[in-house]
Amino acid sequence: MLPYGRQSVDDGDVAAVSEVLTSDWLTTGPWVRTFESELAELAGTQGAVTVTSGTAALHTAYAAIGIGPGDEVVTTPLTFVATASTATMLGATVVFADVTPDTGNLDPDSVSAVLTDRTRVVSGVDYGGHPIDVAGLRGLVADRDTLLLEDAAHSIGGSLDGTPVGSLADVTTFSFFPTKNLTTAEGGAVVATDPEVLRRAATFRNIGMVKDPDRMQRSDEGAWWYEVHELGVNYRLPDVLAALGSNQLTRLGRFKARRTELHRRYTEGLAGLDELVLPPTRDGADPTWHLYSLRIRDGRRRALFDHLRDHGIGVQVNYIPVYWHPLYAAQGYQRGMCPVAEEYYEQEISLPLFPDLLDSDVDRVIELVRGFLGG
Ligand SMILES: *Cc1c(COP(=O)(O)O)cnc(C)c1O
Repeated sequence: MLPYGRQSVDDGDVAAVSEVLTSDWLTTGPWVRTFESELAELAGTQGAVTVTSGTAALHTAYAAIGIGPGDEVVTTPLTFVATASTATMLGATVVFADVTPDTGNLDPDSVSAVLTDRTRVVSGVDYGGHPIDVAGLRGLVADRDTLLLEDAAHSIGGSLDGTPVGSLADVTTFSFFPTKNLTTAEGGAVVATDPEVLRRAATFRNIGMVKDPDRMQRSDEGAWWYEVHELGVNYRLPDVLAALGSNQLTRLGRFKARRTELHRRYTEGLAGLDELVLPPTRDGADPTWHLYSLRIRDGRRRALFDHLRDHGIGVQVNYIPVYWHPLYAAQGYQRGMCPVAEEYYEQEISLPLFPDLLDSDVDRVIELVRGFLGG
C-alpha cells in the first residue's frame, strides 16, 4: 500500500543519531539546545521549547499561557483532536468556530461571533499546510485579553506575506510525527513571541522545576537546590531525537520544494473535473504542504476512498469534526454546529504526499481518480 505520508530518513540522519547514542547525553544535552536554536531561527522567535510530541506541544503551550477552568478556547473542528483536547484537559471550555470553504482554516467571521470576555485563546490550525488568516484573526483579538495560537503541526517552514510560520501568531506549536513535514519519530516544539511564555513552557515540560536563582524563593541552600512552584510534566525531547530533528532541518527546504512540486502535479492532473474541489493557495501564502486535500462534491467520498484503497493507495480523511467524537458529543456539542467544516469533512480525501513520492505514483493516483469519475 502506498502510504499517504512517510518520513524521509537518510544516511546523515542515521549517522547523527548513532553518534549521540555513544555520547554522554542520551536526553537533554547539547543537541536539544542546538535543535531549539535552529527552530527559533526558522520561526523568527527568541527561543523554542522542544517537547515529546505535537500533542505535548499544545498541552505545554496552553499551560504556559495559563489557561484553566472558566477560560474559553476558540478553535476549529477541522483538526486533529489534540488541538482541542489538550485545552479541555486543563479545564478550559472549548468553543468551536467554523472554517472557510477554500482553505479549511478558521473563518474570522465565525470566530467573531463566538468571542466572549472569557476567550483567552483563539487556536487556528494551518490545515494541510496553508497558513491561517492572520490578518483577519489578529484584528479580532487585538483589543482583548486574548492570544492567537497557531497549531502549525502541518506547516513548519511555510510563510505568509514573507513572515515565517512561528512569528505569525503569539504562540505556535509544531509536531515532528513521521508523516509531518519534518520528523524526530515522536516530537514537537513550542515557539512564542513573548519570552515569558517560552520560559513558562520550558518549566512546564520539565516537571515545574525551577533552578534559576532569581526565581527561587530560597537560594542559599546549596547547589542541589531547586523548587517547584507550579505543576508540570516530563515532556523532555531526548538528545537522540533532537539530533535527528537537527539533521532533518538541513533538508526542510528540499522537502518543501518537493511537496510543492507534487502538490502542483496533482492540481494540474486533476483540473477540469466538475465533481472535484482542489486545494487553493491564497495570495501571500507560501505553504509547506503536508496534505493534498481533495474534495469530491457528488456524495461519493466513501466510494472514491474505497476505490483508491482497493487499488493500493493509502488515502486518509482529515479530519473527523472534533465535536463529533463521543468525548465532546457527551458534553452536549451538537452536530450541525459548524456546517462548513462538516461539509469539508464529508467531501475530503487526503492523497499521498511526501518527499520521496514519485511523479509516477502521483500520475497513478490521478489516473485512478479520473477513471473512477469516468473521464
Ligand atoms: C499531528 C497533529 C497534532 C499532534 O501531533 P502529535 O505529534 O501526533 O502528537 C496536533 N495537531 C495537528 C493539526 C496535527 O496534525
